[in-house]
Amino acid sequence: MEDCTKTGVSVNTIGIIGTGVMGIQLSVILLQAGFNVMLKSRTDNALQNADREITNILRRIEASDRVKHHRSRLCFTTKFSDLVTSDIIIECIVEDILVKTQCFKQLSRICPDNIILATNTSSLSINEISENILIPERFIGIHFFNPAHKMQLVEIITSPFTSKHTLETALSLVKKLDKISLVLKSSPGFIVNRLLFTFLNEALHLLEQGNISEEQIDLAVKLGLNHPMGPFELMDFIGLDTCLSIMNNLHQATGNPQFSPSVRLQNMVSLGKIGRDREGFYHH
Ligand code: NAD
Repeated sequence: MEDCTKTGVSVNTIGIIGTGVMGIQLSVILLQAGFNVMLKSRTDNALQNADREITNILRRIEASDRVKHHRSRLCFTTKFSDLVTSDIIIECIVEDILVKTQCFKQLSRICPDNIILATNTSSLSINEISENILIPERFIGIHFFNPAHKMQLVEIITSPFTSKHTLETALSLVKKLDKISLVLKSSPGFIVNRLLFTFLNEALHLLEQGNISEEQIDLAVKLGLNHPMGPFELMDFIGLDTCLSIMNNLHQATGNPQFSPSVRLQNMVSLGKIGRDREGFYHH
């Protein structure tokens, strides 16, 4: 892996924090769009895995000379301090308000004022996170969808403090990625997840009744509603631990029992059945 600290500052550098589903996917689309990417994780091991995964994805979708070109703009670090050469930093870590708040407290202490700080949160309050940021004007939500290379929409979520410059920079980034922005004020789950998680929870409650299977529900939704994936396939794809966190956050923020997480989902996560490349509703 290259040492990015030696390559100097670039006006096109995006810092990504987190090497899970979204950190990897965002790194790929940003590299494809010509940005330099500084990817931060907590351990060298996680970075080595991310390096392998990103290179494999690029090999599947690009010619070999392009893969080499993209890889030359990807750097790795375990240190927050190496992110200060970024123009924008997008946080893609676990969907937990305390962990994200801690991350932004640290970033806002060490990053020069001109660096824009963004979160890819699916459900947490942009207003609440911004209260922990020294200069909240530079903070914004940039919510990409999974799989990032296919999904056109990006929800851009502002707080009452977000500056015009921060918003315009986020909009211009989304445009360079050839995606469509929808600008919103912060509210629980924004638009897409507010609707999606009502639907996913109802599918879980239907399953819990015991006389309809995951396969039947998925088939009905794909053929009857023309969705590309059924709700159980989609939850495995998102990650059941992330789904549970989103459900809990929406339940807490709205007080609406329709977001109260199903016992089935809670049990699966506590048994380590979290989907993605591991066992979930289906075997992967
Ligand atoms: P993930 O579980 O795949 O990855 C989470 C990352 O956070 C990992 O790199 C992990 O090492 C890191 N992490 C875990 N605990 C941490 C801690 N205490 N401190 C620092 N880092 C920690 O999750 P993901 O699916 O990539 O989700 C990341 C963010 O993106 C979340 O806010 C999620 O809501 C959002 N998001 C997810 C999806 C999706 O479909 N999975 C889609 C859009 C947005």
